[in-house]
Amino acid sequence: MRGVAAVLAGLLASACGGSPSSPSPAPLAPSPSSLSFTGRLVDVLDGKVVAAGTITADGLASVVSDGGGTFTLTPATAGSFQVTIAAPGYVERRTAVAVPGSAADVSLIPSSFSMETFNQWGRTAWHPQGRHRAVRWRAVPRLVIYTRELDCSHPTEIVILSRQVPDADVAEAIVQLRRALEAFSGGTFPDFADVTLEHGPVGERRDLLDARWDGVITAGTCVVIANGADGGGRTYRVRGLYEPSAGGAYWKTGLLPQRRQLAQIHEFGHALGLGHTYTTVPSIMSYNTFGGFSWDLTAFDRQAGRVLFSRPPGNINPDEDPPGYTVNAGMGMTAGLLQPPGTFDRGRAGEMCPGPPGR
Ligand SMILES: [Zn+2]
Repeated sequence: MRGVAAVLAGLLASACGGSPSSPSPAPLAPSPSSLSFTGRLVDVLDGKVVAAGTITADGLASVVSDGGGTFTLTPATAGSFQVTIAAPGYVERRTAVAVPGSAADVSLIPSSFSMETFNQWGRTAWHPQGRHRAVRWRAVPRLVIYTRELDCSHPTEIVILSRQVPDADVAEAIVQLRRALEAFSGGTFPDFADVTLEHGPVGERRDLLDARWDGVITAGTCVVIANGADGGGRTYRVRGLYEPSAGGAYWKTGLLPQRRQLAQIHEFGHALGLGHTYTTVPSIMSYNTFGGFSWDLTAFDRQAGRVLFSRPPGNINPDEDPPGYTVNAGMGMTAGLLQPPGTFDRGRAGEMCPGPPGR
């Protein structure tokens, strides 16, 4: 096992690397006049309305949400207004509204949700002031799956080997990555844009940093070479956001089958931009062998997906949206990623993904 671990350490040099549908309240009536904004405070996790929240906007008197969570701002002039929303039991939110603009629900994060874990999980980029900043895909990714085994010993390229992955294993991988996509995106992406099977060509070398893979998630099974030979161990490698990640969890015939599922989903999380968590909150992204480890997606992973995809990329801790964003007009987001490849700082390069406890 020591030999395998040493090989994995080299392999992983870069980074180791059903959605709940909440009962939604009735649709909001439009704002009553052209110079007003009607909002409704809702809980981001369960969709319930939040009464008695205080909304303070630039240069306007504070207003309080009613029993239905609704509030109206009526500035004297049109524009974009910074608002701060405070409600008992919720994290204070700083965002902006456009007036005139359509009515909109404004979600709040419950204080019981672990923001520390969320920062590690979904806010894996750094803000200039040193605060955690949310990273997520804006467009539905495409998926490419290699049907032959791969040599992943080079950190930024793969070589397609001749041995085929059994069809049933390829099908199972697609099932696992699909359910992971839905959970990690809070139900925003129920499926990939499309799924392509790559059958070869055998011997081809592929540069994982090539821009042609942007917007595409590529996944495949890597042969683990131990002491110069294929000892039957396998890892999973998934390339997605900005950098190749490699499978940390190692499986082999005779070892627990959950190892493969863990490797696939965990590495896929990295491909979506997720980082390791270190708290005791259970997550499949956990790096904490003292408490947070999980073999499968957890309640936290699903909740964190909802929170992440309810916020624009760039949202920072504790809950502040980036300049230019408004809750009712967005920021004119076009398809694509948060920022170009190469400008993304994971901050934790060089770590191995966690191995499962025991065996
Ligand atoms: Zn990892």
